[in-house]
Amino acid sequence: MSVENDAPSRSHGRKQVRASLRPRDLMAEDALAGVWTAQVITLVPQAFPGILGESLTGRALKDALWQLQVIDLRRFGQGRHRNVDDTPAGGGAGMVLRPDVMAAAIEAARETAPRGAPLIHLSPRGRPLTQTMAQTLARGPGVTLICGRFEGLDQRVIDHYDIAEVSLGDFVLTGGDIAAQALIDATVRLIPGVLGNAASTEEESFSAGLLEHPHYTRPAEWEGRTIPEVLTSGDHAKVARWRREQAEAITRARRPDLWARHVADRDRRNT
Ligand code: SAH
Repeated sequence: MSVENDAPSRSHGRKQVRASLRPRDLMAEDALAGVWTAQVITLVPQAFPGILGESLTGRALKDALWQLQVIDLRRFGQGRHRNVDDTPAGGGAGMVLRPDVMAAAIEAARETAPRGAPLIHLSPRGRPLTQTMAQTLARGPGVTLICGRFEGLDQRVIDHYDIAEVSLGDFVLTGGDIAAQALIDATVRLIPGVLGNAASTEEESFSAGLLEHPHYTRPAEWEGRTIPEVLTSGDHAKVARWRREQAEAITRARRPDLWARHVADRDRRNT
């Protein structure tokens, strides 16, 4: 599915875009004031909202607890074929996204971006995405995300707009779109009202600098395995202590980096 050529963006959620609207009218109508807004510049607009349109994030999108504006980079391409890329200066394999084309998309996005929304390029060279980053973004007005393709962006557009770079991890994807969806998912679920049980985001992995304790549910016995007795004891203080010990043990064993930071933070608090 491709978006009409005269429409620079597609929005999702409570407001539906009418394809007949002129770009400026469309942009003006798109913005739901005060609602956390993710803008995504992408060559695969049809991949959005994707998984974000399902389950809790999808419900929250429909309920206008957040909104999504998808900006099709192809629309800003050059010539009859709307070219967005060209061969790398200096030679080598692959193609590079043109700075002028990307700049035109960024300028269009900024017309309706909430004031103060950071501009982020998803890139393996970026700072790794963390829970702290998601928490910071969730407290802000929204985010404008640039999804790279091919070999990535011309460096000049990154420098010109002082674009921050965020990585999903130490591996290479074919495009930034999955990373963008991951960042949006991690952030949107922290917006008040998006998760049914708000307390759950305070107890889960990383929130206390630790990985989470294990979970159990019915049946009480499965394949000969039982639920740890303490969890059915009804003693809330004992349950809390057990969970804490499990979280610490798992973090120490699996993530020495997180554990070292946790111990340092704890020691600093205690002195
Ligand atoms: N040549 C680049 C990789 C390009 S992959 C390099 O070696 O660094 C194409 C696009 O996919 C990138 O522009 C980026 O937007 C996205 N991408 C790839 N891996 C990613 C990752 N780990 N995190 C976030 N985005 C990624």
